Amino acid sequence: MNRFGKTLALAVTIGMVAGGTLAAQAKAVGIAMPTQSSARWIADGGNMKKVLESRGYKVDLQYAEDNIDAQVAQVENMITKGDSVLVIASIDGAALFNVLEEAHRAGVQIISYDRLIVNSPWIDYYATFDNFKVGVLQGGYIVKALGLDKGKKGPFNIELFAGSPDDTNAGYFFRGAMSQLDPYLKSGVLKVRSGQTDFAKVATLRWDGAVAQKRMDDILTSKYTDARVDAVLSPYDGLSIGILSSLKSVGYGQDGKKMPIVTGQDSEIPSVKSILAHEQTQTVFKDTRVLAKVAADMVDAVLSGKTPEINDTTTYNNGVKIVPSYLCDPVSVDITNIKSALVDTGYYTAAQLGL
Ligand code: BGC
Repeated sequence: MNRFGKTLALAVTIGMVAGGTLAAQAKAVGIAMPTQSSARWIADGGNMKKVLESRGYKVDLQYAEDNIDAQVAQVENMITKGDSVLVIASIDGAALFNVLEEAHRAGVQIISYDRLIVNSPWIDYYATFDNFKVGVLQGGYIVKALGLDKGKKGPFNIELFAGSPDDTNAGYFFRGAMSQLDPYLKSGVLKVRSGQTDFAKVATLRWDGAVAQKRMDDILTSKYTDARVDAVLSPYDGLSIGILSSLKSVGYGQDGKKMPIVTGQDSEIPSVKSILAHEQTQTVFKDTRVLAKVAADMVDAVLSGKTPEINDTTTYNNGVKIVPSYLCDPVSVDITNIKSALVDTGYYTAAQLGL
């Protein structure tokens, strides 16, 4: 190399060190996200990419559009390309066993993102929200909104929905919500006219809003021709939208027929607008900027040979190990705190919400 070449090489090295941490040099991070059909995952992926690139990493961000085989292929591709760390929000938490075995053999470290990957010993860390608390916020909201905590006796009619059975989060949300609702179901203050109360019965494969809408349609037709629904436990805004369409189709929200209390999760814009329009009642805000930063810090730490910050070492047993986790804090949002939770924090602009 001539003198000019050496100077250039030195300048490039200095530039790289200045532009990111030392660990970031030439390291690539694969991010596998489940779908772009929900805005939250677009925000998660985008936020993580931004933080990691600002720290000098190369980022390969892929979405699998809820197709399990596509996600496996994307992860395989990331291993082949030599990514050093994989950050994965799985579609089916049990479907990645073989490909993660491959990743481990190639020396790739694995961070489970938001959703726990089960049965694999090769999950190094888990970055998520307090998923049980999400359910507590939803179930607890219904308890307060119906005045059950103040001794109201109803009886009130409630219907229950849960998320995708292949996503461990769905179980945590449901159990969290039921921890609040159960005493009132047992005492008869809350009644489930459909009789569908088991997780397996109320789960909604792939978090599909159309499936929830159809189930609500069937329940309304068979059980509510002469009764009113007072509350619907919905774990996710995308399901709430389907449930609300079903309710609207039989007249709820019109001509003095009050909408039931309907919960949700993710504070997606259409659902926040629905809350402002007095249709959906509540949602849970999970600040994806915070989670993305936690995951990026985990990536940074593992690539620098450090131990990432964790705050939970007991909750998340994935079937073969307890995965060291960092849990972020979810926040309940209804019409009273939309501005302080979602606008004042800079998550959305007032204009995006039509405020
Ligand atoms: C996430 C929720 C989301 C749901 C559907 C869950 O794993 O934790 O935030 O509402 O998937 O995408």
